[in-house]
Amino acid sequence: MVEDLLKNNNLKVTKQRVCVLKSIIELEDNASIHNIVSSVDIDKSTVYRIINTLITNNVIEKDINYDNLDYYKLKSNHKHYIKCVKCKKISTLDSCPFDNVDVGDFEVINHSLKIEGICKDCKES
Ligand SMILES: [Zn+2]
Ligand SMILES: [Zn+2]
Repeated sequence: MVEDLLKNNNLKVTKQRVCVLKSIIELEDNASIHNIVSSVDIDKSTVYRIINTLITNNVIEKDINYDNLDYYKLKSNHKHYIKCVKCKKISTLDSCPFDNVDVGDFEVINHSLKIEGICKDCKES
């Protein structure tokens, strides 16, 4: 439940927050800031403000930035992608390489990795 995601992260449930969060979930891998803004009936600056609140409260996180657009996803759907620079194919990593990184006494609230490579098919051709 979208409402529970807000409540569990100490956020008050408001109609607009629910709306933005639902949009991010429904857009899945296409949840760019552009697509989010155009799928909700809320003005752009409010959407930005809600997204910042959701990030600060660990509900969502910023994904990698493709083609200068910011993408967002649920924190619980934490994934990393690797993109082939030749055919542009995108694969998902099975685990988070960041899990084993020692950041000292910092509390990490967000991280992203941009991984590019050459896929098996492109390597062989
Ligand atoms: Zn490739
Ligand atoms: Zn990670």
